[in-house]
Amino acid sequence: MTWLGTIPAMRHERHLDGRVVRCFGVRPASFNALLADALGRNPGGEALVCGTMRLDYRRLDAIAGSAAGGLARLGIGKGDRVALLIANSAEFVIALLAIVRIGAIAVPLNVREGTRELAYVLADCGAVALIHDATLASSIPPAFATPALATRVTVGGARHGAGALAWEDLLGGAAIEPCPVGEEDIAAILYTSGTTGRPKGAMITHLGLVHAAMIYEACMDLGPVDRSIATVPLSHVTGLTAGIAAMLRAGGTLVVMPQFRADAFLALAAAERMTHTVMVPAMYNLCLLSPAFGTADLSKWRIGGYGGAPMPAVTIERLAQRLPRLQLFNAYGSTETTGPVVLMPPSETARRATAVGMATPPAEILVMDENGCEAPTGESGEIWLKAPNVVAGYWGNPEASAESIVAGYWRSGDIGRIDGDGFLTLLDRAKDLVNRGGYKVYSVEVENVIAAHPSVVEAAVVARPCPVLGERVHAFVSARDGFADADAIRVHAAQALADYKVPEAITFLADPLPRNANGKILKRELRARLG
Ligand code: AMP
Repeated sequence: MTWLGTIPAMRHERHLDGRVVRCFGVRPASFNALLADALGRNPGGEALVCGTMRLDYRRLDAIAGSAAGGLARLGIGKGDRVALLIANSAEFVIALLAIVRIGAIAVPLNVREGTRELAYVLADCGAVALIHDATLASSIPPAFATPALATRVTVGGARHGAGALAWEDLLGGAAIEPCPVGEEDIAAILYTSGTTGRPKGAMITHLGLVHAAMIYEACMDLGPVDRSIATVPLSHVTGLTAGIAAMLRAGGTLVVMPQFRADAFLALAAAERMTHTVMVPAMYNLCLLSPAFGTADLSKWRIGGYGGAPMPAVTIERLAQRLPRLQLFNAYGSTETTGPVVLMPPSETARRATAVGMATPPAEILVMDENGCEAPTGESGEIWLKAPNVVAGYWGNPEASAESIVAGYWRSGDIGRIDGDGFLTLLDRAKDLVNRGGYKVYSVEVENVIAAHPSVVEAAVVARPCPVLGERVHAFVSARDGFADADAIRVHAAQALADYKVPEAITFLADPLPRNANGKILKRELRARLG
């Protein structure tokens, strides 16, 4: 058997801009219906755990309903964008449920992002409200940079700024029922950096979230007995789909871990009798290095999903040796596919260690050559992915939407091949980025910032291989007058970029950067210099 659970019946349906996609025929009508269904099936079951807070489905629904009432009383309603700058916490989950419940659109933000980028994103989506952790107040852009932002709500500390509310101000009123929404309505916008260096807002639909949740449920056979730890950021598509949406669909328990530390994660996994998690490969590497891996009781751990970056074959082997009953699932997808489109059936993981998996039931994979023709089986090309969970497009950016999504297929920018059995192997990337432990750093964004330093002529950013994180950010800099102060460049970059985008190593070149006859920088040559 390929997948662990039963695959619901499927049919082709027409959606969005005329795409015809395979969908699960019987499904919840919206993301809100996932919670309503779980409440109906398992009202007393534990829904959400974070620190000392434990909420069953009845309580979670009541709090989310009352927070939704609080938002509605502020005049926030259908289609409004409400940004979340909240680290992993119970409040993140409750705020997300509340926003979507009133038909508004949640815009989860990366808590590591710098003020400049936050200002861009808040203005781009025209967010009318921001719910943020008190500890992150210093990253919030000044009011003049975000004119639409009328409401600020502070979680876990003193209200930030004149007119700001406290999280508790939203709670306490009567719970309100979910607002009716269409399946193609936008539930969330997730910003991803892009080849232009400007973030783009991927529009996640209710249809997409419901399918992502059902794919995980069916392929991993999830149910009310499952207890998942979300330690990847909930603001990223993996936390949103493999954590929140999948556990709501299963009626299981979501245990939220504020910050990943291998020993603390392993202790929590044992204490909470974790059955399921999806993490990035770097987290598995760190778990294997932790002494707690040998002592923690992980006997309930059934499903180990990983994605976002390539998993080294040796890590898979070591995990299989240490936890022989753990079902290892490679998961390939992206923000634009609302998570899972390709999964590795666990029975195949060991003998296909270099592949990422096969199309999940509703998804289709194409390998396309440069002329827009399907490549023969076994030959490489760009991976195009179609599924009901492919996003509607990018917020306010029809050009980028048309370029990235063609007839319902998302053009991944990943290069790969499919073998005769339908298994996909990734070979390379056409997109110029560094995948730092799952965090994507687009080279152009870092290059533009470094090039603005007065002593720099030009800069090129490449991925430096790393055994733990997979890749790290390395900059080659051609500077004026013998300038070679790496710390100065890093301080300069840190003023404009999130911490994980700042180059960890810099090579200064006396000569200009190597270029081909057309003037394109030869990054392959630069990568080769890293050895
Ligand atoms: P993101 O939008 O941050 O989720 O990034 C999506 C990109 O991460 C994909 O286009 C791939 O380049 C990479 N990626 C996602 N899953 C995997 C995986 N299982 N193995 C290797 N790379 C992956």
